[in-house]
Amino acid sequence: MDTVPHTFVIAGGGTAGWMAAAALSRFTPPGTRIVLVESDAIGTVGVGEATIPQIHNFNRALGFDEREFLRATRGTFKLGIEFDGWLRAGERYMHAFGPIGRAHGLLPFQHYWIRARQLGFAKPLSAYSLNETAARQMRMQKGRTSVGIELPYAYHFDAGLYAAFLRDFAEARGVRRVEGVIASVERDGESGDITALALNDGERIEGTFFIDCTGFRALLIGEAMEARFDDWSAYLPCNRAITVPCEGVAEITPYTRATARKAGWQWRIPLQHRIGNGLVYCADFMSDDEAAETLLANLDGEVQADPRPIRFTTGARRQHWVGNCLAVGLSAGFMEPMESTSIHLIQSAISRFLSVVPGGRADPATIDWFNAQSRFEWERIRDFLVLHYTANQREGEPFWDHVRTMDLPDTLSAKIAQWKATGFIHREHEELFTEVGWFQVLAGQGVKAQSYNPLADALPESDLRAMLEGVEGALDAAVQPMTNHTEFLQSYTGGM
Ligand code: FAD
Repeated sequence: MDTVPHTFVIAGGGTAGWMAAAALSRFTPPGTRIVLVESDAIGTVGVGEATIPQIHNFNRALGFDEREFLRATRGTFKLGIEFDGWLRAGERYMHAFGPIGRAHGLLPFQHYWIRARQLGFAKPLSAYSLNETAARQMRMQKGRTSVGIELPYAYHFDAGLYAAFLRDFAEARGVRRVEGVIASVERDGESGDITALALNDGERIEGTFFIDCTGFRALLIGEAMEARFDDWSAYLPCNRAITVPCEGVAEITPYTRATARKAGWQWRIPLQHRIGNGLVYCADFMSDDEAAETLLANLDGEVQADPRPIRFTTGARRQHWVGNCLAVGLSAGFMEPMESTSIHLIQSAISRFLSVVPGGRADPATIDWFNAQSRFEWERIRDFLVLHYTANQREGEPFWDHVRTMDLPDTLSAKIAQWKATGFIHREHEELFTEVGWFQVLAGQGVKAQSYNPLADALPESDLRAMLEGVEGALDAAVQPMTNHTEFLQSYTGGM
């Protein structure tokens, strides 16, 4: 295999394009040329404002200063996601970042919690989560807490400002931005590789490796390279969204809220200067007018822009990398943002790619490996998202009845069955979501484990009770000295 390609061409300048440009500009050897083509006339999807803690790996690798980043993107801290009404109207739970309870001996906490629940004295998981305890009390702290761990957190940020922040970084490191509309993609007759992007003003952008960040259009990976799109609507049937920003409120919640609605769900993402809102819904069960009415009737404050409709099909490309073309972002596929996974999938694709940066044309084994890893990652995330829908008890509501009774991927059925029978959660090595994440959603969605690991019986009942009370008390005490989230943001960023 020869060395690093001479010229990377990135098609598209949304979050995916500028994340790719920033990372390549930081990690490819001097002399590598990086060109990004985008069109202001076409614009970006403009959403994608909630993240998961893995974003730190990306920001740290690029050397971003956190305060500067939060100021530039009007970002806030995020300790988890509240799911409101997903089990039944009026019920809520949180998928909070970080551990739940405390492991004891060989066993993770869930087995003790199941036993205590069967004995009748377990509290909801919120009582045993540092992040949820802090989030509910609107607190934030950086650095070690009195229970010996830090609060794991992610961010909410303004997607447009994040792209601008990345653009400044990338351009300062020599990335050339070309404004223009890609009219066609030129390919080599023999190898099938892409050779150039032809713009509608006649300019040709030649390169040796092409990264498709053209969003849902998927101009390179889909139209030119014809990578097949696997439609996952049978599992994730929502196919539309309507979004609108509204004015913020004085108290900035340190968590995302996802509220179940008649035929989908609504997100609420608090930023420093506004709140991002959107309703994801299934057009078979809700009209566009009703979706707009539902969204507008459930906002915290005055709307700040016209509602924006978005259409999509959930699913993923069977191959994310074909020849000398890699799909990153929405061109690779889309799953609903209820667990804020899309930006993570962008960074994960970029870092996987950088771990094998190919020269010119990569060897087929590397491409096969990349595609298999991507597929595994996407399918396991899909399973986790489907769990939120399938395990609902909103009986008599047509959309929710539909998603409760739909066929499930075998991998998800197996996971649920094992949990119900044994209280054990099987997580394969590179799955994104941890056992603790699955535990919270399984418990929150009312999926009951009938049994637990009998090793948990070794702990006398009185000790089990003391253990749970001890955890709850320690977490509560750890949260008391923390600062109010809004005040913390103000002092940390130097004013908002
Ligand atoms: P886009 O933003 O669509 O960018 C495409 C780029 O390609 C643009 O620059 C455009 O100008 C350019 N382009 C297209 N065609 C041409 C052409 N012919 N010529 C030149 N340029 C062209 N992710 C999260 O992580 N968290 C969330 O909370 C979240 N919420 C979401 C909510 C919704 C409803 C949707 C739809 C997505 C959400 N996402 C979320 C996903 C997130 O928005 C995307 O992953 C992210 O914005 C990346 O998009 P992108 O860069 O791939 O595409």
